[in-house]
Amino acid sequence: MGQAAASDVDRLYVIDCGWAHAVDQSLWSPGVNVGVPIDFSDNCYLIHHSREGYVLWDTGITDRIAVLPEGQAVRATGQTWHRTQTLIAALAGLGVNPTDVRDVAVSHAHPDHVGNVEEFPNATLIIQKAEWEYGHKLPLRPFNPEHKTQQIEGDKDLFGDGSLTILSTPGHTPGHQVLLVRLENTGYVLLSGDLVHFQWNWDNRRVPGFNFDKAQSLASMDKVACVISDRHAQLWINHDKPSSDARRHVPEFYD
Ligand SMILES: [Zn+2]
Repeated sequence: MGQAAASDVDRLYVIDCGWAHAVDQSLWSPGVNVGVPIDFSDNCYLIHHSREGYVLWDTGITDRIAVLPEGQAVRATGQTWHRTQTLIAALAGLGVNPTDVRDVAVSHAHPDHVGNVEEFPNATLIIQKAEWEYGHKLPLRPFNPEHKTQQIEGDKDLFGDGSLTILSTPGHTPGHQVLLVRLENTGYVLLSGDLVHFQWNWDNRRVPGFNFDKAQSLASMDKVACVISDRHAQLWINHDKPSSDARRHVPEFYD
């Protein structure tokens, strides 16, 4: 597979969907950097497909945090979450209304990824069947049970043209998935969800202590490493703030 294959995805936008300060990064890297703080980025990705329209990948932490000057503390993870701007305002800045978004695909059901799913009540929620079922057991109940869904079991070429491919990567949660995007000029980009949180965790294959299944997490990382090598893909690690900061954000885009 070449890097410059033509693609029906003509725009990939990176949208700041929140950030967090955590007091102890070893929650994500057991035994390593104990007590050392770290900042997290949290992006949403708006994808334009020339025939199918807009697909949103992940929705970030809830827009409600944007009005809290001190942010919102989460005791379980030692994080304080902030939002500079709402997702809805960022989309409006691009001239995109929530009703223009046909599909909302999510990596997994944790609150910093599904915080705004219900801002898109008419969009089809694309999610692994296992994650949909897992999400309904979570205390925050991130989804309206009536939400229209496309429930996937395993890998899926979304539009049958190779431009957007969901890869099943369980481990962080029971039905975690990642998205491989093909762009004509940029080449392949793999959007990580929480397959891995930081670049050095990827380099050292570190698995957070709270992952649902450690062996599955490692197997999913191996699976993605093979895809990256095969497609010469870039791995965009969602929560890795230094690499996120280096990426072009809206209104610029990748094509
Ligand atoms: Zn997560």
